Amino acid sequence: MSLYKAMTNPTVENVVIIGSGPAGYTAAIYAARANLKPFVFEGFQAGGLPGGQLMTTTEVENFPGFPEGITGPELMDRMKAQAIRWGAELVTEDVTFVDFSQRPFVIRSEEREVQAHSVIIATGATAKRLGLPCEHQFWSRGISACAICDGATPIFRNAELAVIGGGDSAAEEAVYLTKYGSHVHLLVRGDKMRASKAMQDRVLKNPKITVHWNTEVIDVFGEEDHMKGVKIQDRKSLFESELHVKGLFYAIGHTPNTHLFQGQIELDEIGYVVTHEGVATNVEGVYAAGDVQDHEYRQAITAAGTGCMAAMLAERWLSSNNLVQEFHQTEASEKPEAAPTPHKTEDEQAAEFDVARTRHEGGYALRKLYHESDRLIMVKYASPTCGPCHTLKPILSKIVDEFDGRIHYVEIDIQQDPEIAESAGVVGTPTIQFFKDKALVGELKGVKPKSQYRQTIESHLTVAVG
Ligand SMILES: Cc1cc2nc3c(=O)[nH]c(=O)nc-3n(C[C@H](O)[C@H](O)[C@H](O)COP(=O)(O)OP(=O)(O)OC[C@H]3O[C@@H](n4cnc5c(N)ncnc54)[C@H](O)[C@@H]3O)c2cc1C
Repeated sequence: MSLYKAMTNPTVENVVIIGSGPAGYTAAIYAARANLKPFVFEGFQAGGLPGGQLMTTTEVENFPGFPEGITGPELMDRMKAQAIRWGAELVTEDVTFVDFSQRPFVIRSEEREVQAHSVIIATGATAKRLGLPCEHQFWSRGISACAICDGATPIFRNAELAVIGGGDSAAEEAVYLTKYGSHVHLLVRGDKMRASKAMQDRVLKNPKITVHWNTEVIDVFGEEDHMKGVKIQDRKSLFESELHVKGLFYAIGHTPNTHLFQGQIELDEIGYVVTHEGVATNVEGVYAAGDVQDHEYRQAITAAGTGCMAAMLAERWLSSNNLVQEFHQTEASEKPEAAPTPHKTEDEQAAEFDVARTRHEGGYALRKLYHESDRLIMVKYASPTCGPCHTLKPILSKIVDEFDGRIHYVEIDIQQDPEIAESAGVVGTPTIQFFKDKALVGELKGVKPKSQYRQTIESHLTVAVG
């Protein structure tokens, strides 16, 4: 018997949704309310974050229903809660294989195989990289694909920064980075920008932004631990020069996340899923919604709209083929998340501190534990606007529960405690550092599989016991 056979759930799902951006969650809400109990692969690391691209932005000002604006991560949290409330089943896993040539369709992740009568593809799109010679060396050591996530890190404060790109994302990121950097250089390949007129005006009128037209980035340079600048070339004169910046932020467009579907459904020459009737693919019962099939509008609301269409078409198709298995709802299940607690003063932190507790937050607790704890200390450096930090929260929460009483866990908000992050050498969020006996014994940057955090903790606990 094959491994996947062993993992197979004999139930055939009505509908499997792949992706958890606005398209995936909206499809899940509609399918769940139609009593289809959709099974959602939210994704993990392939093709972005669970929650999709909006996890990397701060304010979303154009999603209807939020006149004051809403942060991207909060909007996605709300969509997720609504999908769960109506009975969608969610797993935070990447789909690694699909077979649409047999019915029911087969969908696999590393952990399971699922069969389904219909599938909604909502895998979105991923930010492109340039492939510069030293890109790999300085990735997360100055180069970032997410200004909103990393802009607030201490190393970028009051430093000169650069953004590459000429579209709306580049313009938005350049303006955003002026909050932190002393000056922002926007590097545009052509002699005009693709950004909307309104965004261009905001950039051109901002005295803290210099636009470099006809500019190609040819490499980055620096010292081992951090980039110091970019080598640029004027595309007309071919003159090469250096720009001394501490941060380089990519905003150069996206690639549709469709590698998985090659040979299974029709894709266009760039890789977008080809759709008709809005969201139907060339395979009956398979639908595509959001940025994975839309290179024109690429907005949260259009992604959500097509997610709705895909769920409705899937439901009609299942009904007309007598394939629906209905699941009836009982009670709404999702509890709203507690509101974030306001920043506490040093005195309040001191009054609340209890070394016996596993979970702590803030600089006071970290200093106390650093000197007094005989446990492994796990420190999470995060920022409230960072989508990946949001993604990591439930993952780490489970890990911390597993090691309750055996480790100390401290959360540091780098916006509230920038000097702590700076002295810890943190250049991006989320970063997890592990300390034992006043020494740094491990560091994990970004979002890693749960097993990696577990293994790191276990390796140090074993040493402590043995
Ligand atoms: C910086 C930035 C700011 C933006 N601001 C706005 C704004 O203010 N307003 C607005 O309307 N739009 C905005 N957008 C655009 C908006 O985010 C996108 O149009 C929208 O998120 C597209 O939604 P989607 O559901 O199609 O895909 P995405 O949001 O890209 O989500 C794709 C999902 O698929 C998952 N996935 C990928 N591969 C796999 C796999 N193999 N298995 C399982 N899951 C997988 C990913 O984890 C992710 O959950 C912004 C985009 C960016 C980058």
